[in-house]
Amino acid sequence: MPSANQTEAWVAAKAASTVIQVEDLHKYYELGETRVHALRGVSLEIQRGEFLAIMGASGSGKSTFMNILGCLDRPSSGQYLLEGIDVSRHDKGALALIRNQKLGFVFQGFNLLARTTALENTELPTLYTKIDKAERQKRAAEALAMVGLADRAQHFPSQMSGGQQQRVAVARALVNHPSILLADEPTGNLDSRTSVEIMEILQNLNDKGLTIVLVTHEHDIAQFAKRVLVFRDGKIRKDEPTPHCPRAAEVLKTLPTLED
Ligand code: ADP
Ligand code: MG
Repeated sequence: MPSANQTEAWVAAKAASTVIQVEDLHKYYELGETRVHALRGVSLEIQRGEFLAIMGASGSGKSTFMNILGCLDRPSSGQYLLEGIDVSRHDKGALALIRNQKLGFVFQGFNLLARTTALENTELPTLYTKIDKAERQKRAAEALAMVGLADRAQHFPSQMSGGQQQRVAVARALVNHPSILLADEPTGNLDSRTSVEIMEILQNLNDKGLTIVLVTHEHDIAQFAKRVLVFRDGKIRKDEPTPHCPRAAEVLKTLPTLED
């Protein structure tokens, strides 16, 4: 039988590798007389280094769940541990702090500032931290390099394609070195080749150890994640590893380029 210390070490190691742990989450929205039960008992664990896609019909609760994972909203009941910290009852200020420290966001719309260069856009989330100017610029340049845009640092959004703008948004999400990247329909505004290019970037980041949770309604996109969750009526109906997870870089070789 292991001694108490060994057991403690094991519990600590397990906690360290679990990034997200949710237990019996419920979410109600009050809409005048009616009450929408948007999440109906969701329990889930996400380990460090996972790449998870969330699918499901419109209205099944995907965004509600992502908003809670992203500390943009709180559950009505249930528990949410983010790196072992119970954030389910945090107030708005505490949630904002956690968001900036631990989470990176990518949305369908790129939400870049128009009159601001790629480098400055990427740097934005660091403005709310204590990091000094030199370090901020270094980190922003590194993040741009990680998404293959080192040579576009001084470009404005209007001088970049949609795919490049979304890559800047990914760089911006990485700049504070988050524990997890949350992406809600990141390829929703992109053509199919550009979508696969974004998935290539996400796969490369995941290879480096970044934990990623992605919402998509497209099977072709979800297949690039290692694990796929399907929501229905506010519950998880399916949670399975992707059997033959293709490499986006390989798929790209089979897709026509714009010049073709
Ligand atoms: P999905 O992202 O899968 O399309 P949502 O999480 O947006 O689903 O919505 C789940 C359910 O909750 C739906 O019935 C939706 O109408 C309802 N809902 C979502 N957001 C709100 C809100 N802010 N107020 C009231 N009802 C909402
Ligand atoms: Mg949604």
